[in-house]
Order: sequence, then C-alpha cells, then structure tokens
Amino acid sequence: MFKKFIAVIMCFVLVSPLFGCAEKKASSTEFAMNTVISLTVYGDKADEAINAAFDEIKRVEKLLSCHIENSEISKINKSAHIAPVDVSDETIAILKKALAFSEKTNGAFDITVKPLVDLWDITSENPAIPPKEQIETTLSLVGYENIIINGNAVSIAKEGMQIDLGGAAKGYCADKAVQVLKSFGIKNAILDLGGNIYAMGKNEQGKNWRIGLQDPSLKRGDHFAIEELSDKTAVTSGSYERYFEKEGKIYHHILDPKTGMPADGGLISVTVISDNSFEADMLSTAVFVMGEDEFKKIAQDFEFEKIITVDKYNNARTYTK
Ligand code: AMP
Ligand code: MG
Repeated sequence: MFKKFIAVIMCFVLVSPLFGCAEKKASSTEFAMNTVISLTVYGDKADEAINAAFDEIKRVEKLLSCHIENSEISKINKSAHIAPVDVSDETIAILKKALAFSEKTNGAFDITVKPLVDLWDITSENPAIPPKEQIETTLSLVGYENIIINGNAVSIAKEGMQIDLGGAAKGYCADKAVQVLKSFGIKNAILDLGGNIYAMGKNEQGKNWRIGLQDPSLKRGDHFAIEELSDKTAVTSGSYERYFEKEGKIYHHILDPKTGMPADGGLISVTVISDNSFEADMLSTAVFVMGEDEFKKIAQDFEFEKIITVDKYNNARTYTK
C-alpha cells in the first residue's frame, strides 16, 4: 500500500567516518558508463579489489555502451537489420532480461528507445523540442518486439531501429562490480555509479549505510529522506537529472515509448530499493514512465523491497511489498 509521508528536508553526509576502522580502506572515482563512478571499499585486499571492480565496469561498458564504437550493442545497432549479429552469452542474457522486462511493463521500459533518445538529444548544447511529424516517424522505429534473438544471433526487424541500454546498464554494472568485490573477500563497500547506489555490508561505524535521497526540487545534496541499507541497492530515476527547460516546461531524458515525449506519469523521482541493481535500474525507469496508478496494477510481478516516489507536487510516497 502507498503510505503518504511528509517530505521532510534532511541533509546527511552519505559516508560519515566518525571512528577509525581496523579495516583497510580504498576509495577511487573515475568516469565510465557516461557518469561519475565512486567506489569506497574496506578489507585486506581493498586496493586490488577496487582496481578489479573498475576493470569490470569498463569491461561491461565495452560490451553494452551504445556510445562506444565497437561495443556489442553498437555492432547490433550498425548491422543487425541487414544480417544477424553474433554476440556473447553475457550480452544475450542481458538483452533477454531487458526484453522480458519490456514485456512485463507493457513497453513502458523499452531498450529500442534509442532513435527517440537521439531525436531529442537532451544532453546536446542546444536541445530543442522536435517537430511533431518527426516524433511520429521516429516512434515507428521503437518497439522491443522487433528485436529477435536466435541462439547468440541478434536481428533487428527494421532499418533505423537501435538499442540503448542507458536505463539498465549502470545497475547491471553495479551487480557485476559487487560480484568482483566479493571474490576478493570484500564485505563492506559503498558503490555510487552516478547516483545508482549499492551498499555492501556496513559502514565504518559498523552500522547500515545511510543513503540520502535527493530532493528533486532542491540543490544537489539536499535530501528528503534517508534509507538505511545493507547489501541492498538504491536506484533513482528522476526528471531533474538530465533536462532542458522551454517556456517554463521541463523536457527530460526519460521518454515515453508510446507518445515519443518525455514521460509524464505524474512523478519527478522514483527510487527502487532492492537486492538486484540491474532489475532496480529497469524498474525505476519503468515506474517513472508508467506512473503510480499503472504500476500499482502490476507491482506484484516485480522484485523489490521498497519504492519511494515523489510526484510533481513534491509529495513523497513509499510502496512496500
Ligand atoms: P534512467 O536514468 O535509469 O531512468 O535511464 C534513463 C536512460 O535510459 C535515458 O538516458 C535513455 O538512455 C534510456 N531511456 C529513456 N527512456 C527509456 C525508456 N522508456 N525505456 C528504457 N530506456 C529508456
Ligand atoms: Mg534505470
């Protein structure tokens, strides 16, 4: 059930190391997956583990990024409409999960949204609202049903259709980085992939990690709630993240595959708390597109611990299973 709670503005520091800790600590920040990634890792092998985690993130980026020329997704985008493109088992597994997710969300989440993303080009220097006719033409190039997987071969039914895993890849990367850290015996760490958080174990004080949820209407770092997490992910999709403003209206980066417009499900922020960051990433994007009423009808089909939404009147609500 959705329980309304008052959005209290609170400001906490994410990592608050009050006491020294016996464990060795390594911290590093790098740019990858089109975002700033910060990892802080505790344990005897913290240094090796953090390097291996970044290597893993870059490996996955080379597989999945549609901005990297020779990634497997770019290869599909370039020629899968002409002939099937063979990709790795890993990419096939990711695509299958993403396509199944698209189906479960009735297309609210759709990895074939790339032609629309390119049309809107929200992050360009002078973004503009595309003409209606162009949005309509581009919409005919969006539809996850047109991705056909046969063994390891991927085909795209129509020329111009392309895949963009931007709504899922950071989550997948977070899960893979956690796996790598665990293989080095790491139990405690905090991973921040451009706001896509994974909190492993405990913080330096031996307590659950405190994750501040960004208040969409306030400056970065001003939080409206705190979630205390251990071995959980917190993934947020928000219209305040990437957008431009025209005549008082916000045009943001999460697009509705049904209308071709920035999604307007009545929400400005959706945070999913879960065990699985890949699924949480897809779910936060999907709930943002669908809005609460649509999501409530199908919520039982999804894995999550808690969803926190903020609507356009700045009311926050939580939904638990
Ligand atoms: P997120 O910030 O995780 O909600 O993902 C937003 C990113 O996912 C955008 O920058 C696009 O690359 C892509 N995207 C936009 N709209 C959709 C959608 N409806 N379904 C799947 N991916 C989308
Ligand atoms: Mg997402």
